[in-house]
Parts: sequence; C-alpha cells; structure tokens
Amino acid sequence: MFNPDNNQLKELISDNSNNEVLRIRADEVRRKYYGNRVFVRGLIEISNICKNDCYYCGIRKSNRNISRYRLTEEEIYSCCETGYNLGFRTFVLQGGEDLYFSDIVLCRIVNNIKNKYPDCAVTLSMGERSYESYKNLKSAGADRYLLRHETADNTHYSKLHPAGMSLENRKKCLYNLKSLGYQTGTGFMVGSPYQTVENIISDLRFMQEIQPEMIGIGVFIPHHDTPFRDYPHGSAELNIKLISIIRLMFPKALIPATTALGTVSPDGRERGIQAGCNVVMPNLSPLMFRKSYELYDNKICTGEESAQCIECLRKRVESVGYELDMSRGDYPDV
Ligand code: SAH
Repeated sequence: MFNPDNNQLKELISDNSNNEVLRIRADEVRRKYYGNRVFVRGLIEISNICKNDCYYCGIRKSNRNISRYRLTEEEIYSCCETGYNLGFRTFVLQGGEDLYFSDIVLCRIVNNIKNKYPDCAVTLSMGERSYESYKNLKSAGADRYLLRHETADNTHYSKLHPAGMSLENRKKCLYNLKSLGYQTGTGFMVGSPYQTVENIISDLRFMQEIQPEMIGIGVFIPHHDTPFRDYPHGSAELNIKLISIIRLMFPKALIPATTALGTVSPDGRERGIQAGCNVVMPNLSPLMFRKSYELYDNKICTGEESAQCIECLRKRVESVGYELDMSRGDYPDV
C-alpha cells in the first residue's frame, strides 16, 4: 500500500524527477484491478442556472453574459435514449444549483430513467442538497453522486467562494452521501488560484478520510467573465502526476480523464489514461446548449454530436493501448 507521509508527498509534488516512475507504478496498479479498460459515462448538462457564485465558475450567478438554459424532461430523456443506443450504461446528470430541480422533479426524472433503463447507473452532480434530499434521490434510484470538495483547506476555500458557502457544509454533504450508500465522487481543481502544495496534501488527506469511489481532478482554467479571469490555468503535468499519486493511494478508484485536462493539452486525456485514469465522460448534452455550459474558456467537445464524441474518445483511448468498456463500471466492491 502506498501511504506517503507529508514530507514524501511534498517532495513528489514539488519535484519532477520521479514523474515517470510514478506513472509506470500507477499504471501497474490500475492494470491489476482494471486491466486496460476505460469506462464510459455519458454526461448530460441539464441546466446552467445556478444560485451560487463560485469565483472560478463560468456559470456563476453573477455572470450576466451567458444565455441561461434548462433542459426539459423530454430533452433529458432524449439524451439518455441517444446514449443508450450508442451503448452507454451510465448517465451523469450535472448542473448548476438550479432551484427548479426540487426533489419532486429530480426524483421523477431519476425514477423515469431507471425504469426505462434498469441496466443503467444514474449519477447525479447537482451540488449541495440536504440529507433528506440525497435520501429521496437515492430511493428514487440514483446510484452515484459527484461533488468535488474543491479544496479541503478552509482559508483556501474562502478564497474560491463567497461568504455563505462553506467547506463545512460541502464536507457534510459528502459524509451524508457516503452514509446513504452512494458511490461517492469527490475531487478538486489543480492550480486553482492561491492553491499551495500544502493545500493539495490536505486534499489527499481529506480523500483518505472519505474513501471516495470516484475521484475527479482537473486543471483550473480561467473563464473570461469571472473574478479569476486573469489567473493562469493549472499545469497539465501536475494534473497528470497527481493522477498517478491518487491512483497509487486509491488503487480501485474510478478516475476520469477530464475535459479540462484535454482543454489545456491536446493529448492530456491520453496522458491521463496512461498515468492511471480509467474513466472518460463524453458529452451527451444537446448540441445547441453545449456552448452555454461553459465552466471555463475554450472548453473542448462543444461542437460534436454525441456519436462523434464517443468515436473520438474511442480512438484516443485505443491510440495509447487501452480499450473502452461500455458496461456500468461500478466500483469493484459494491
Ligand atoms: N453544481 C455542481 C456541478 C459543478 S460543475 C457542483 O457543485 O458540484 C463541475 C466541476 O467543474 C466543479 O466541481 C469544479 O471543480 C469544475 N469547474 C468549475 N469551474 C471550473 C474552471 N474554471 N476550471 C476548471 N474546472 C472548473
């Protein structure tokens, strides 16, 4: 078991001489549990309406320059149908914290998807909700929940979010999700403004506490209509190295090669996969809304139909010697 102390972590993060050794070891561990398989999750961006005002995020409440949309239930089901016909067996519904999606509405949607596609997993990524709400959604059939903690350091958290949002609540949500039996995903941005090596170590320690089934990390990329417009994007190299470290610390985790990594580096996702990632998340959202779900500038995969998206990813995955696995891809111990 790879359980580095803080000094070792600090050295691994700050020094690049061991990157390739880490990558090779991470790839070995990933192959031990998953072979060369890369799981597929169909991402449906159901709304860019958000009550929150996170300083880094392009769909924050204060951004008056984007056109807001919310998919109708019919549009959501139609995305699932397209995905199902393409072989997808996991649907991820993600969105801003849009109050329209009450428990009644969201439970009905989850329930309808699960009834129509009982062989599929439904993952939600709809932000912070109450214990009761997570419980209702679980009863409606939701299998998994993605909620990145963003940073596990209080001071850093308050530099990324306005007053009124708290790390404490974010953490509480994650503990609630775990206790309700969700396969739970967490994670953070790499290179977000003010992030220090110590912050990253806290992130890894927090994840050791939570023991998430899924871990998403992706580089921070500035969005031109946010307070962080002038900050540089995070480093692809650091993102990739952290993927290897995380793979070694969480051998069975489901770790996506993120769109953000593919945005800052043309072969970022391929390199992520070679460094330990075992998930890709092609976009299933209707083409006409893709550009409006712009969390950061220059987001890739906004111009292709879902079928093209999956074929493009298939080629990328195969180009580095791995293969797409279209099954549900649950965490091995579930
Ligand atoms: N409202 C949901 C979904 C948020 S969007 C929630 O709160 O979980 C999904 C993820 O995109 C966020 O968790 C954040 O880590 C990432 N993200 C947002 N803005 C970003 C940016 N400018 N650069 C990179 N990633 C960003």
